[in-house]
Amino acid sequence: MTFEYAPAPESRSSVSISPKYGHFIGGKFVAGTKHFPTINPATEEVLSKIACGTKSDVDAAVKAARKAYVGTWSKMSGKERGKYLFRIARIMQERAREFAVLETLDNGKPIRESRDVDVPLAAAHFFYHAGWADKLEYAGLGTSTKPHGVAGQIIPWNFPLLMLAWKVAPALATGNTVVLKPAETTSLTALLFAQVCQEAELPAGVVNIVTGDGSTGALIVNHPGIDKIAFTGSTEVGKIIARAVASTKKSVTLELGGKAANIVFDDAPIDEAVEGIINGIFFNQGHVCCAGSRLVLQENIADEFLEKLKIRMNKIRVGDPMDKNTDLGAINSQEQLLKIRELTIAGDKEGAQRWSPECALPSKGFWFPPTIFTGVTQGHRIAREEIFGPVLSVLTFRTPQEAIDKANNTPFGLSAGIWSEKGSRIFWASQQLRAGVIWANTFNKFDPTSPFGGYKESGWGREGGRHGLSAYLKGFSHE
Ligand code: NAP
Ligand code: MG
Repeated sequence: MTFEYAPAPESRSSVSISPKYGHFIGGKFVAGTKHFPTINPATEEVLSKIACGTKSDVDAAVKAARKAYVGTWSKMSGKERGKYLFRIARIMQERAREFAVLETLDNGKPIRESRDVDVPLAAAHFFYHAGWADKLEYAGLGTSTKPHGVAGQIIPWNFPLLMLAWKVAPALATGNTVVLKPAETTSLTALLFAQVCQEAELPAGVVNIVTGDGSTGALIVNHPGIDKIAFTGSTEVGKIIARAVASTKKSVTLELGGKAANIVFDDAPIDEAVEGIINGIFFNQGHVCCAGSRLVLQENIADEFLEKLKIRMNKIRVGDPMDKNTDLGAINSQEQLLKIRELTIAGDKEGAQRWSPECALPSKGFWFPPTIFTGVTQGHRIAREEIFGPVLSVLTFRTPQEAIDKANNTPFGLSAGIWSEKGSRIFWASQQLRAGVIWANTFNKFDPTSPFGGYKESGWGREGGRHGLSAYLKGFSHE
């Protein structure tokens, strides 16, 4: 007997979207000059028009942030700052449904993920950092820590609200004020967050949000009134930013790309590992910097494992992100879809074997089926470059040392996974792997208390935990 799922769409009526938005500067929404549309990538429907920040908008935001820093925020006790962060966290929880629906509409990610992961974790980041605000002297970072001043923060589109929380919460807890630019395709939850700041009565200018594209981001990076840059995005743009700030006094943290190995040893609990591989690459359509995009699989279990993986992939439900039963939502933009197509075509041409379950894709919007490539060698582009989509490259190994060598053979070093029942093997492998985060018998687990960040081309510095606090305090280098 087969059971069919009834459709279970979340209600769109939980959100009200304005036809047009401006920037949030000095505690107020101010009109923009030029605008661009933001769409729902699952339907291509235009949701709203977003302002493209110009030089004068960035100037105004930096000025407001400086004024708030000098006049209010740097004078306030940690305990007082903490109160605002607690308030923000609680309002985010109260408005969780609104945030989740808006994130799913603007980004294309399944509502189950925005509701159960993005929004609760974003609130958790504010709660966690609220707790630090009056305890900074006990963080092991010295007893007279000082904030940088005004932080310029630039974030990507894959976890719009969560990346905002990773940036804004530690900056505010440590006494900085901020100018934040969300990604071009996903500004709506940042603008809703601006309303939360108003509702929390956060002093004007402590948080400023200037929307726009890469040129707005560059204006923030190069602005002389900014003391610290925090960037999450591609390695390519990260390098441009590193060059731009190299000759300045700005402090910088970079959270960049990844090409994580998820290693399955032959003693791993196979069914759990299959589930972990699925979660590692198909969570958030694979638009995850720490996605387990390379499965490094022990050869003697490869046939059995891949068979089980394919059976499991057949059960992935692709489609309407607003349906609570959906596992894989829409690709965030046409541009990203083209990038995924280009790299998968390179995989075919270089001789790897592509497999996807049969699944009907909606006719409108941007979609890519869950896909695996077997027969991948280390030289293939799909083994080296970040695809940032629901595409898994499978490599095999015979000895544990070969697994480590293959896993580390990448310019990136953000995360890795180990699947084994042997504790000693997990300890041994995790000491050999050059990656900032290593999960054992699990994957994609995040917590505000845990530092996150990369080695090599995956970035500089850490976010989260005590390590993340240091990025917003004077006197700590990025490594
Ligand atoms: P991206 O193109 O680098 O964009 C990131 C942000 O930078 C966006 O807001 C973007 O504006 C802005 N930007 C573009 N050019 C700029 C410039 N010259 N100067 C300043 N800002 C500029 O990356 P993406 O495609 O949005 O995001 C995907 C990448 O982010 C992946 O490589 C992924 O691995 C990485 N990522 C890393 C982490 C981590 O924690 N390590 C987390 C999430 C994502 P637009 O709005 O115009 O794009
Ligand atoms: Mg959008």
